[in-house]
Amino acid sequence: MTINSSTFISKYNATLEQNAEYLRQILPLMAVKKVAIDPLSFTIFYDYIAGNNIKLSNELRDILDKQTTFTSELCINLFEKHICDTSIKSLDKINQTLLQLINDTSEAIGATGDKASAATLHFQSHSKKLENSRSLSEIKEVLTEIIAETQSLAVTSMSLQAQLDESKKDMQSLRHDLEKAHETAKTDALTGLFNRRAFDQTLDQHIEVHKQNSSELCLLILDLDHFKKVNDTFGHQVGDNVLRYTANLMKQHISEHHHAARYGGEEMAIIMPNTPFNKAMEIAEKIRSSLALHPLKRKGSKESIGKVTVSIGVSGFKRNDSIESLIERADQAMYQAKSNGRNQVMAESFS
Ligand code: GH3
Ligand code: MG
Ligand code: MG
Repeated sequence: MTINSSTFISKYNATLEQNAEYLRQILPLMAVKKVAIDPLSFTIFYDYIAGNNIKLSNELRDILDKQTTFTSELCINLFEKHICDTSIKSLDKINQTLLQLINDTSEAIGATGDKASAATLHFQSHSKKLENSRSLSEIKEVLTEIIAETQSLAVTSMSLQAQLDESKKDMQSLRHDLEKAHETAKTDALTGLFNRRAFDQTLDQHIEVHKQNSSELCLLILDLDHFKKVNDTFGHQVGDNVLRYTANLMKQHISEHHHAARYGGEEMAIIMPNTPFNKAMEIAEKIRSSLALHPLKRKGSKESIGKVTVSIGVSGFKRNDSIESLIERADQAMYQAKSNGRNQVMAESFS
């Protein structure tokens, strides 16, 4: 699955001035309705004031009319229902969009504050000049009013700025939490490699990219040989350590732009974008040979586990391939390696 921008309904492309104007309406409304300013509630009220989202506006209007207390449950509910589902695939998008929104608005209101302060000084200096001039008393009166207004604008801007800075801090910590949650959701806890879902998403994304620039994209499927015997002989814990060891070894041999994943059980996969087929075969062979080179030893003791080996199948993306057909050919090649005697790398059959 690719990250789908349609999961985030609203489009935030207002100008800085528009955002400043929205903010002048949002914060007093939130204050009157006693709504805590946090990134989610801010986004809901932003959409409401900006008229971005009709269904959200209708429901929120009903809520505000009924004077319903705006609880955090209600806030999350509205956010999930009308703004985006918070499934993991849209977390990135939420992150970026909310931060952008807060930054833009903060900038806009900051600029307004500066303008207002500058205007105050400007009018004050003119007012002084006019002080002794009786004939201009009327003008002076007007100017004094303007100064008062502008000063209050500056004060308002400053308090809005402070509120917004607070929101920004919350936003940054939310962003940090989301990033952590996102990482955890992508990672296989035992090996630290991508998990199956992240593998599917990443392969899907690379296939899309590949279709556009037709760079070479290869896939390796690796399956440990007679792994059941390792478990049966030495126990599951030792089996787990062998899986971790194999994952680390894979990481050592692949490039930064390759993606290693735990495909399931004792089966791993490596997605290799921008990699010629012979290079993918070469890396596969390095992984196989370095694993088979030495017998493994139990952690903390000298007891040998014997040699652990791996069978690897390699396929390369072809025109009209689907994610399934690419995996299928790597899988077939891996089974071919098994039936040929294991501990070997096989390329897909090019028949
Ligand atoms: P082959 O060479 O044909 O692949 O034989 P095999 O024994 O590796 O294959 P089989 O499918 O018979 O057994 C796979 C074993 O992998 C069985 C299962 O208990 C073990 N396994 C799967 N996941 C884990 C895991 O997370 N930890 C441990 N320790 N073992 C696992
Ligand atoms: Mg196996
Ligand atoms: Mg297997």
